[in-house]
Amino acid sequence: MGMSKQSSITIRFWGVRGCIAGQCASCVRYGGNTSCVSIDVGPDRVLVLDAGTGIRQLGKALADTSADIFVLLSHSHMDHIQGFPFFLPIYQPSRRIWVFPTLQDESMICSLLEQMDGAHLPVTPDDLPSKWQCISEEPMGFLREHDFCISRIPTNHPGEGYGYRIENHGRSVVYLTDNELDPPGEKATQFDEFVQFCRHTDVLIHDAQYLEKDMPHKHGWGHSLVSQACELAMAAEARHLILYHHDPDRTDDELDVVQQDAGAWFKERNANIRCTVAFEGLTLDI
Ligand SMILES: [Zn+2]
Ligand SMILES: [Zn+2]
Repeated sequence: MGMSKQSSITIRFWGVRGCIAGQCASCVRYGGNTSCVSIDVGPDRVLVLDAGTGIRQLGKALADTSADIFVLLSHSHMDHIQGFPFFLPIYQPSRRIWVFPTLQDESMICSLLEQMDGAHLPVTPDDLPSKWQCISEEPMGFLREHDFCISRIPTNHPGEGYGYRIENHGRSVVYLTDNELDPPGEKATQFDEFVQFCRHTDVLIHDAQYLEKDMPHKHGWGHSLVSQACELAMAAEARHLILYHHDPDRTDDELDVVQQDAGAWFKERNANIRCTVAFEGLTLDI
């Protein structure tokens, strides 16, 4: 029904940075906004993965549409929720928006809305004119009832979180950020389980915040090495790996080197896998 013939899923990157947003002369090409990816799975609705500062530009792009909006979080850290109060559609009276808390904790209603408490920000959820609804029980079940073909997997990250796999008309995308593939101590999910979860996906978006030089100091901080994301893509036979959630101190020139090195890494192994270092504005039609 109105589904474009050329592609089943359109993925757009609005924020690709981890931890903290920042604009600087050395990060203009890849961008300084924090995590936000939108996924169009049809003409009238959009799935938004994380609400970092990148969501502000997405809000402007959606303002003139009437799309239903579903905002799903990987977890509740600041760099994944901070843009939400600046997301224009929440101020549009006829807009329908669903938000989903990530954790099944009764004390936690929804981090997106809880930050809007009148103390940390001037507006409160009661001030929002849009038709928003928070779905705290069985978010996956709710999304499936609304015709999203989606599944999730726990990430290895302090404070816990989830990765997601979205399918549409035979295409698939996996979103796995803030995930340490080889953490010290107990793992929420083993490497082999991630491999199963990502098996043959068209696009794998994975945390790639660190380089070998960042270790061992940052081991246990909840993020992966670029090389570990590459290993996962290779083991899962993903078609296209997107390196995501860049360290806030990684410059454009350094990310260019990451791009070259990751390309060479796959070439050396004769792997037919595309690899792209995520940047703001990157759009993929699959
Ligand atoms: Zn993060
Ligand atoms: Zn985090």
